[in-house]
Amino acid sequence: MQVLKFGGSSLASRQEMEAVAKILVERATKAQLIVVLSAPQGVTSLIETLIQQAQTATDYTAQLDTWQTRCNTLLQSFDSRLSPAQLQALTSFQQAQAEQLQRHLQGIALLGECSNKVQARLMAMGELLSVRIMLALLASDNVRELPAEQCLLASGDYLNARVDIKATAKRIKHWCSENPFNIALMPGYRAQHEEGDLCVLGRNGSDYSAAVVAAAMQAQSCEIWTDVDGVYTADPRRVSSAVHVARLSYEEAMELSHFGAKILHPKTIAPLAQFRVPCVIKNTNNPAAAGTWIDAEGDHSLPIKGISTLEQLALITVSGPGLKGVAGISARVFSCLAQRDISVNLITQSSSEFSISFCVQQANVMAVKKAIRAEFELELSSGLIKPLNIQKNMAIVSLIGDGMLHQLGLAARFFASLAQAQVNVSAMAQDSSERTVSAVVNQSDCGDAVAVCHENFFTHMPSIDVFVVGCGTVGAQLLQQIKRQQQFLHKRNVKLRVYGIANSRQLLLAAQGIDLNNWQAKLSGAKTAFDFATVQQFVKRHHLINPVIVDCTTSTDLAARYADYIRAGFHVVTPNKKANTMAMDYYHEIRNAARAKHRRFLYETTVGAGLPIIDAVQGLQNAGDRLHEFGGILSGSLSYIFGLLEAGQSFSTATRQARELGYTEPDPRDDLSGMDVARKLLIMAREIGLQLELDDIAIEPLIPAEFDASGSVEDFMERLSALDDYYAQAQQQAQTNNAVLRYVALIRDGKCQVKVEAVAADNPLAAIKDGENALVIKSDYYQPLPFVLRGYGAGATVTAAGIFSDLMRTLAWQQQA
Ligand code: ADP
Ligand code: ASP
Ligand code: MG
Repeated sequence: MQVLKFGGSSLASRQEMEAVAKILVERATKAQLIVVLSAPQGVTSLIETLIQQAQTATDYTAQLDTWQTRCNTLLQSFDSRLSPAQLQALTSFQQAQAEQLQRHLQGIALLGECSNKVQARLMAMGELLSVRIMLALLASDNVRELPAEQCLLASGDYLNARVDIKATAKRIKHWCSENPFNIALMPGYRAQHEEGDLCVLGRNGSDYSAAVVAAAMQAQSCEIWTDVDGVYTADPRRVSSAVHVARLSYEEAMELSHFGAKILHPKTIAPLAQFRVPCVIKNTNNPAAAGTWIDAEGDHSLPIKGISTLEQLALITVSGPGLKGVAGISARVFSCLAQRDISVNLITQSSSEFSISFCVQQANVMAVKKAIRAEFELELSSGLIKPLNIQKNMAIVSLIGDGMLHQLGLAARFFASLAQAQVNVSAMAQDSSERTVSAVVNQSDCGDAVAVCHENFFTHMPSIDVFVVGCGTVGAQLLQQIKRQQQFLHKRNVKLRVYGIANSRQLLLAAQGIDLNNWQAKLSGAKTAFDFATVQQFVKRHHLINPVIVDCTTSTDLAARYADYIRAGFHVVTPNKKANTMAMDYYHEIRNAARAKHRRFLYETTVGAGLPIIDAVQGLQNAGDRLHEFGGILSGSLSYIFGLLEAGQSFSTATRQARELGYTEPDPRDDLSGMDVARKLLIMAREIGLQLELDDIAIEPLIPAEFDASGSVEDFMERLSALDDYYAQAQQQAQTNNAVLRYVALIRDGKCQVKVEAVAADNPLAAIKDGENALVIKSDYYQPLPFVLRGYGAGATVTAAGIFSDLMRTLAWQQQA
């Protein structure tokens, strides 16, 4: 004997029902079957809402229409499959159910209330419809209807009854002896209450119906047929990377279902475990798949089996210092709840001051308040117990697996993952079998919590979730490099995806990551402008856990918001020098935010483009080095211009050539003013601990103050030859002193200056030209010979590569947590 249960998702439409019939016909050739059927998907929920509406004097006619249409459309879909007589019989049956439902709803609306007994009778209608349709589809004398309300005996709440397996076994066996069958179709969810009326077994309770029948009949197995290939490491509807689990122990399955894995009703496993009946989860849409096997053994090779969530809970705390050490308080709390059939999902108790916290379904908060008030009336009025503390909109996130019993550090990793997801934990608990560890969190954080925990425990593929703002030369080059490297990184288990690209007018977002082959076209078609709140909502909605804003603009406004971005949980990576050269207070604010939020602010490319200068300086200082002096050529364009001067070119020709090759800013005055170099020097100065502002940098521009630098770029370039003699002479002078002219940035004795300087031939800076940058550091550790870093200090390729390597650093940070 085998028991097979098909859920609502397997009975949603004609197509699914026929698939079920096919499976049954095939299986019936091998074994005698008891088949438990749920209501067609959605039907029970529609009735539940109808009852609520009738009870609260809400107009329920539209909802009633929806229910009727749902059932009738399903019946009509069998038009070409069933005979007119069969269809007529089904239609009459459904009509009778509809009339019964309507009559009851009128009564409920009149009274303004509905007893659980009446509600049970109405809620369980859909199951009968499924059985009738399946009987018609199978149409054979060997197929019979097994009446659940005669055979399953239950007690307790009419809406959430518990089955007496022993009595049920007797009844079913008796029924079987009188009704020979090949396939017995039994409506799930329904049972007879010990008081004689019909009752139901709790929402989603057909799984439990199947389990009690399988236990009662000592079946070979109990198969639960649904719409997924079995149990996954998380709800596959919510976590796309969820991994299939081939085998579970009864205890693991029980914990998973208790803590919210909807695939099994929480009461299902206990009877199967008691009678040692294996449970198999199968997919109606993919019967060839092996499914998930649940038995006493389980699979010891996988320590953790899944993460589940229970939502719409309230966390309630009973506390009062006056009750410290008073015995029996918790027993009173929980028995007063049990008396009112309020089930508690999780309990934690403090050991010092008296305080007990527990989770209940949010819908039960009023009932809990009443129960506790009644039970502790005296203690509340005398102040021994404080008024209840109630936190609503909470959820429980649980990590489940037998391996937790034996393997150290799994719970620690769970809580570290929650910290990494920036999720605040309001309470925590470990079940006594040490198979489950649970955290109570705000429901709005639940998705993030599951995403990070799942990644850390199952997919082991850390992600970098990129949002590029500004896609000029550097931004575009970065996107190209990312496109090129995505596969390479994927092989190394890193998921690098660009979820957003923005320019000054448009913002493009894509939930699955942007296809970097044609982002330009997509971006130009984007309708909205960049707005951080939109990006933030996007990140929240898609549970991106390592979001990075890459600012490739030169915008001051954007730079002024970095601290906000970081406080919102984003890393910031940028070649934009503005933020680091604004007021010192803001400089500290960004870093404080980054420390507090465990996020990174990375700006390696603001000085020396791709050269790892910031990293080197931070590394030296961390190792206890003290910097004495810094000298550098920090501008690629000026490096190029002074190289040409050295080769005998005139100043104006050199500048023009640099401009034509794209080394200078579009307006070369931006380079020649010395301001760009001054900003870079300020960043270096602050990096080594000097508390300076931009005004504190002595800037000697390349254009003397008396030179007329006004007008258009072209006008300015025309006039530039007036400086040729001055620079030719200065270069000549330098050469006679065995030196060369360079535009140098210097930090010495706490003072910063940028200026044209004649650099002696033996100075490492003398060799720097052709767009190269160099940084020369003298320090405790590097003397008398200095530490020198040299290479191209400008250009989209090296700058983008530098940004790329900053992006990778956010990953190290993520893994550290
Ligand atoms: P049925 O109608 O067959 O009873 P349910 O909707 O009740 O189906 O249960 C199946 C659903 O359970 C799946 O579609 C899936 O979204 C959800 N689910 C939740 N947690 C898990 C999990 N850990 N593994 C597999 N499915 C899960
Ligand atoms: N039809 C019932 C429900 O939707 C029982 C079940 O499907 O398991 O809750
Ligand atoms: Mg179900």
